[in-house]
Amino acid sequence: MRASSTFVYRFLLIFWSLALYYPTVGQKNQGKKTQSTKPFIVVIDPGHGGKDPGRERGSKKMKHEKHLNLAVSKKLGAYLKKHLPNTKVYYTRTKDTYPTYEERVALAAETNADVFLSIHCNSVENTKVRGTELHIHSFDLPASRLLAKLISKEFRTRAGRKSRGIFDAVKRQRNLFVLQHAKVPSVLVECGYMTNPKEEEYLNSDYGQSIIASAIFRALRTYKNSNPPKENRDRVYRVQLMATQKPISPQSKRFDKLPKEVKRLPNKSSKKYKYRYVTGWEYTLKEARQLLTQVQDLGFKDAFLISTKDSE
Ligand SMILES: [Zn+2]
Repeated sequence: MRASSTFVYRFLLIFWSLALYYPTVGQKNQGKKTQSTKPFIVVIDPGHGGKDPGRERGSKKMKHEKHLNLAVSKKLGAYLKKHLPNTKVYYTRTKDTYPTYEERVALAAETNADVFLSIHCNSVENTKVRGTELHIHSFDLPASRLLAKLISKEFRTRAGRKSRGIFDAVKRQRNLFVLQHAKVPSVLVECGYMTNPKEEEYLNSDYGQSIIASAIFRALRTYKNSNPPKENRDRVYRVQLMATQKPISPQSKRFDKLPKEVKRLPNKSSKKYKYRYVTGWEYTLKEARQLLTQVQDLGFKDAFLISTKDSE
C-alpha cells in the first residue's frame, strides 16, 4: 500500500510539473523564434581607403593603415558569416576606395544595423606606445559601452593584447564623426600602434590580424547573445553658448577651455544676432545638463540647452 501511494504521488507530481512546465517552454520558444527571425546586422567600416591611406607604413615591407584596416575587417566579416548564425554583414568598402564619413554612417541607417564597427590602426610620436583602444561617442550610450567593454576584455584576456581602455568624446577631447552620427550602437576599434615597430609587424602579419579579428568576433557573439540594451539616438541635445552679430571663429581663444568642440550655426530666430555657437552632441538629458553646468562654470553664464531631431 505504502509503496503504491508513493508511486501515485510521484506520478501526480511529475504530471503537474510537466503541465506547468510545458506552456512556459512553448512561450519561451515562441519568443525566441520571433526574435531570431530578424538577423543580427553588423556594418563593418574599414577606416580610410583610396586617396586617404590613414597612417602611412613605416617601411616598404609594411602596409598602409587603410590596407591593414581592410584585412582585419574582411577576416572579421568572414568569421561572423561562418560562425554566428543569422547574422548579416555589410562593409562600407571592400576595396581600396574612399567612402565619405556621411556614406559610411548612412549604410548603418539604411541597413537598420544592430552594430556599426569602425576598424583602425593607431599612431603616435612615442614609438614605445603600444596596445589597443576602443572609442565610443559617450559612456551614456549603454549598448556602445557594453560592446566596447566586451571587445576590450577579449583583447586583454584571450588575445593577450595590452588594452589601453575605452575612450569617449570627453576623454579624448574630440568628436569622431562616425561615432557621433551613426544612428546605431557604434565602436571604433584601434587595433594597435603602427608606430611601435613590434606592433606594426604584428598588425601586418596574418597571425596578428586573425587574433584581432577573432577577439572582436567573440565580443560580438557575446554581445548578440546578451540581449543588449537599447540606445535611443533620435533626439540630440546641444548647448548653445551665445549668439553674435558678426561671425567669430569656432576656434577662437574664448572657446579654448570648453571640453567639446564648438560649431557655428546660422541663427534663424534673430535678424540681428545671425550667428550662434553650439557645443556637445548628447543623447541623454542627464549628460546634456552636466555639460551645461560645466560650460556655465567656465564663464558662459547665458548658455542654455537646445534639443533637435535634425543632425545639423
Ligand atoms: Zn585611422
